[in-house]
This record gives sequence, C-alpha cells and structure tokens, in this order.
Amino acid sequence: MRREEILRLLKIQEIDQEIERLERHLRKVREERERRERELAGVCEEETSLERKEAELTGKLRSLREKLSEEEDLLEKTERRMLAVRKDHEYRALLREKAKHEDTILKLFYDIEDLERKISEFREEAERRYPLLKRKAEELREEIEELIDEENTVINRLKNTKEDREKLIESIDEASLRFYNEAKGRFGTTIIAKIEEGVCTGCGMKIPDVLFSKLVRENSIERCPSCGRYIYYRL
Ligand SMILES: [Zn+2]
Repeated sequence: MRREEILRLLKIQEIDQEIERLERHLRKVREERERRERELAGVCEEETSLERKEAELTGKLRSLREKLSEEEDLLEKTERRMLAVRKDHEYRALLREKAKHEDTILKLFYDIEDLERKISEFREEAERRYPLLKRKAEELREEIEELIDEENTVINRLKNTKEDREKLIESIDEASLRFYNEAKGRFGTTIIAKIEEGVCTGCGMKIPDVLFSKLVRENSIERCPSCGRYIYYRL
C-alpha cells in the first residue's frame, strides 16, 4: 500500500479511536445519570410514603374522635332516659348500658392518647427527615442536569467526529478502505501501530533491531513481524 494511503488510514484510525473513546464516555455518563435517577426516585418515594403514613395516622385519629363523640352522645341519651324511667328493672338495664358506654369512652380516650403520642413522634421524625430528603433530591436533580449537559456535549462531539470520518472516507480509495475494515475485524482499532521503545503498540512484541533501525533511519512504514500490523516510528 502506498504511504499516502496508509497515512490517510492512520487518520481514519485516529478518528475511530476517538469515536470509540467518546462512545465509552457516553455509556459511562448515561449509566451515572440512570443511577442518580433511580436514587432520586427512591428519595421521592420515601417522601410520598411519609406523607401517606401521616395521612393514614391522622385519618385514624379523626375516626377515633368521631367514635368518641358518638359514644358521648349515646351516654348522654342513656343518662336522660334514666331520669325518666320508673321501673326498677328498666333502670338497672339503663345502668348497665351507661356502664358499657363509659367503658367504651374510656377505652377510646386511651386509644386516642396513644395515637396522638404516636403521631407526635412520627411528626418529629418526619420533620427531621423531610429537609434531608429535600436537600438530597435537590443535589441529585442538579447532578442529573449536569450529566445531561455532559451527555449532550459528548453526543455533539460524536456527531461531528462521525461527520469528519465521512468526509475523510471520500478521499480514500475503495481497496484501502476494504483492507482497513477487514483489518479492523482482526486487529481491533489499532491497525497502524506506533513503535514505542522498540515495541509494537499493537501487539506488545519487541521488533527486531534491524527493523527498528530501518524505521528510525528512513521514517518508513513496515509490517510488524509478530502481528502483521503496519508499523511506524515517526511519520
Ligand atoms: Zn505487532
């Protein structure tokens, strides 16, 4: 292959390596964003569950207070009826009814007291928890915004790099391109490898001294005896 063709392929290779790097970066940024989105969903869910719990407790309290007030009404009615009855057994029956209402009322008092204490404990905990959740959610939202910005920057850069590649490909003849694409399947993204400290950066093997001297002396492009990649020392 002619030297100019290889130099063009080297440019394509650099672009392909850049595309690969950008795609890797994009995947990482997306994973980070998704991780934070899941975390944010968890924070929001905890907020909602605190609100739900509070509504549930206050609902229970309301219904206990309603029951108490009904029971107090019933007690009052029984007491009024007791004033009106003449017969002994009726009076005794009402007395039992009265005692039953009083028992229920007492029990409701205790239940309400219990629940009120529970609610106040819950509120204390919730008051402590809400600001933490709010701050965490704000932090996460900011981080997500930043990651979306970064994502868009990388997407744009990828688009531009791919456009550069399209343009460059037009200047490369078909046979070279076919060679490049086939070699890519075999070698990965490094098809034309730089020699560093006498070692092929494509396969990691040391090249013979004679070959190394030639590369240094002539700035030529050769093939690596170990892997077959095109190699150069300086272009
Ligand atoms: Zn090699």
